[in-house]
Amino acid sequence: MSSGTINVSVENIFPLIKKFLYSDHEIFLRELISNATDATLKLKHLHSIGQASGEYGEPQIEVSIDKESKTLTISDQGIGMTAEEVEKYINQIAFSGAEEFIEKYKDQQGEEAGIIGHFGLGFYSAFMVADRVEIITKSYQDEPAAHWSCDGSPNYTLEEAERTERGTSIILHIAEDSTEFLEESRISELLRKYNKFMPIPIKFGTRTETLPKPEDAKEDDPAPTQEVDNIINNPNPAWTRKPSDLEEDDYKQFYRELYPMQFEEPLFNIHLNVDYPFNLTGILYFPKLSNDLNMQKDRIQLYQNQVFVTDNVEGIVPEFLTMLRGVIDSPDIPLNVSRSYLQADGAVKKISSYITRKVADKLKSIFNDDRDAFQQKWDDIKIVVEYGMLTEDKFFEKAQKFALYPTVDGDYFTFEELTEKIKENQTDKEDKLVVLYASDKDQQHSYIEAAKGKGYEVLLLNSPIVSHLIQKLESEHENTTFTRVDSDHIDKLIQKDEEIASVLNEEEKERLNSLMSEVIPSEKFTLQLEAMDQEASPFTITEPEFMRRMKEMQKS
Ligand code: ADP
Ligand code: MG
Repeated sequence: MSSGTINVSVENIFPLIKKFLYSDHEIFLRELISNATDATLKLKHLHSIGQASGEYGEPQIEVSIDKESKTLTISDQGIGMTAEEVEKYINQIAFSGAEEFIEKYKDQQGEEAGIIGHFGLGFYSAFMVADRVEIITKSYQDEPAAHWSCDGSPNYTLEEAERTERGTSIILHIAEDSTEFLEESRISELLRKYNKFMPIPIKFGTRTETLPKPEDAKEDDPAPTQEVDNIINNPNPAWTRKPSDLEEDDYKQFYRELYPMQFEEPLFNIHLNVDYPFNLTGILYFPKLSNDLNMQKDRIQLYQNQVFVTDNVEGIVPEFLTMLRGVIDSPDIPLNVSRSYLQADGAVKKISSYITRKVADKLKSIFNDDRDAFQQKWDDIKIVVEYGMLTEDKFFEKAQKFALYPTVDGDYFTFEELTEKIKENQTDKEDKLVVLYASDKDQQHSYIEAAKGKGYEVLLLNSPIVSHLIQKLESEHENTTFTRVDSDHIDKLIQKDEEIASVLNEEEKERLNSLMSEVIPSEKFTLQLEAMDQEASPFTITEPEFMRRMKEMQKS
């Protein structure tokens, strides 16, 4: 038996660990299961290169609760540690890692602490919930097992142990203020949150499985049952597999696995898979956004090597894509840094533009392969696409090829097709292309009909950000102007010739002008005395287009 003192330079690290990130205490379980996973994968690797004897078998990780002795145990069948390695990895390395971490981040508050808290404390995070931690471990090498025990002071004991099977058990003596972690439901919840897709099977208790009835069973014989290991994770989630090995159904199945409460099927998926210049895998889904109550709750989840990190991907994924769902897994996203640092980080910028490009490419290929299907989904995806066009110039460029502009008659044009279609009939005297649009088919019915009577195409643009989009389109296409179908008399919507003379003489015009200016504020309306149909209406009062748009922008 030996005992010792952990080399402490921060006066006493344990109270600090306990206090640190109070709300994130739960991450201790993820940290310990990550270590168990690492240890198992290391063993697998040693086997694969012929450096470990015996069978690799099918190692599991087991989590168990003992309410009587108030312990929570995480056991693995990985490489284990010799006494010497415990000294080195637990007393020195793990400790200095935790110490460094605390030193660096103890002053961080609020949001900044948020993402950092997802990271890095490692083994010592066990002391956030336990007042004593034991390690019983046997190395894959032929050495006696070791038993380490530490009560959260810098003193520890290390002695030989009985254990004969290879692997490590971490036994947490749960502290009085953390008894929630002795509740099965709480542990289940955490395993589901952080470990659902980890690469080694994780057992938590057993469950009863119903077997098929034997052939000769009578009608009211109960179906036979058996107790089986309750494995809480899927070690081979879809995103870790090759896209070529997956069918459409596999993607749908995985969507249900990710969001069990989501009954609507996704519209389509995008498999991300890159290993240079950064490593990233994942699957993104376009959900049906309309009337979706889970919109806020079911978000893109970020993983690192199949370990859940967060579902707040702000700063990593471009904002317009945060409306998507799915998984991103990348070991190359530096999460132990603040959000503002993250946004300025070169690797993260590359990741973000890679994702944008993949999404654009996928939309383009669906558009090319099956335009009908794409058109049918347009209403559900347009908000994402339009928002992307407004906020990301690269995306705007690509989206030009597939963004659709529906007409009031239900035809869908790309911008280029639209231009082609209307250039003969809808060019004004200044050679500008005039795109007419309506926002409400019923309310603007008579205007729409009048325009159609002239052979004009009228778009139906009704998304909440349409006024911004129009502004963007006008600035990108110098020779095009958008005009609302009800913004003027039909003959004035597209001015093709010189002004038409009024039936009124100068004196009459003057009188009418001064009369009208008393009733209508000139900054809000325009009075025109040269309407075409002089018989029916010798003048028109219209609201200038920019006023109308201003109002719409304020609304949206
Ligand atoms: P990290 O995992 O980042 O290395 P930790 O503090 O989580 O830091 O763990 C420190 C070290 O302790 C690990 O690198 C590993 O060598 C050792 N260790 C922790 N848990 C286990 C385990 N279950 N089996 C074998 N070694 C372990
Ligand atoms: Mg670790």
